Amino acid sequence: MIEENVKSLLNEIPQTNPFGERVTLVAAIKLQQVEDINRAICAGVTDVGDNHVQEFKDKYEGIIGNPKRHFIGHLQTNKVKYLIGKVDLYHSVDRLNLAEEISKRSKNANVVSNVLLQVNIGCEESKGGFDLSEIDAAYIAVNALPNLKIEGLMAMLPFIDDEKELRRLATLMSEKYDYLKAQGADFKYLCMGMSGDWKLGVECGANVVRIGTTIFGKRNYAAK
Ligand SMILES: *Cc1c(COP(=O)(O)O)cnc(C)c1O
Repeated sequence: MIEENVKSLLNEIPQTNPFGERVTLVAAIKLQQVEDINRAICAGVTDVGDNHVQEFKDKYEGIIGNPKRHFIGHLQTNKVKYLIGKVDLYHSVDRLNLAEEISKRSKNANVVSNVLLQVNIGCEESKGGFDLSEIDAAYIAVNALPNLKIEGLMAMLPFIDDEKELRRLATLMSEKYDYLKAQGADFKYLCMGMSGDWKLGVECGANVVRIGTTIFGKRNYAAK
């Protein structure tokens, strides 16, 4: 099943978004077994994203094929030290003190860490991220920190049925991404879209999507 799911997703996800940028699939691997993750990699997944530091550590050695490692979940400041030098892209930099901690630890380890700034595009209490109105200032503040490279923006769209509203929010993200690029930001990634909304995300300009359920099936939260 996993193999077929990966193959049909890779077929379905367009090579490029409407802006001509290559689209990358990140498999969201939270709560998945190492064997299943490796099956997805054998079927063509090149990038994997974790949510929990403990799971990341437990599975780190078992994952084959040297995929690009993303950290996509909420990250506690005191856990950053376990990830430094092992994560290719941090998606969830959602507050200044997290950026400061990643910067400090990266400097000590003599590495540069690549990050995305997370935007709370739906202004939801349950989600982390900078407000869209704060993002210009956040970009300037984070960009000034050593040993960090801001590679773009990330957002989780709200779980609502209103397609028009989702499109409006995704377009706001895309416009902000273009605006900051025009101001000189060296951006590569606009990351938005999950199993339920990745098509809309890509249509509105995302070039990275994070997909779990469509690859692995429904997550078994009880097994945790
Ligand atoms: C779990 C998760 C996903 C994937 O969600 P699905 O709906 O299973 O595709 C994407 N992004 C983040 C941040 C996640 O935690």
